[in-house]
Amino acid sequence: MSEPSIETNESMPATEKFDVIYKCLRCGTNVTNTELSRLPEIKCICGFRVFNKVRPPIVKSVQAI
Ligand SMILES: [Zn+2]
Repeated sequence: MSEPSIETNESMPATEKFDVIYKCLRCGTNVTNTELSRLPEIKCICGFRVFNKVRPPIVKSVQAI
C-alpha cells in the first residue's frame, strides 16, 4: 500500500497573524485582541467592558522621495 507523502513546505510564509482591534465604547481606547487576551478579563483600562470591533489599520509603506 502506498502512503501519501506529506510535504512540509517550509518556504511558505507563516500565517500572518493580525491583531483585531477593539475600541472601548466609553473612552475610545484602542486595544488589540492580543492585549485583551493577556488580561485576566476583557476589560478596558477605564473599566468599561463593551468594545467595538474595528478594522486593523492598513499599514501602507509610503516612501518619501
Ligand atoms: Zn475605556
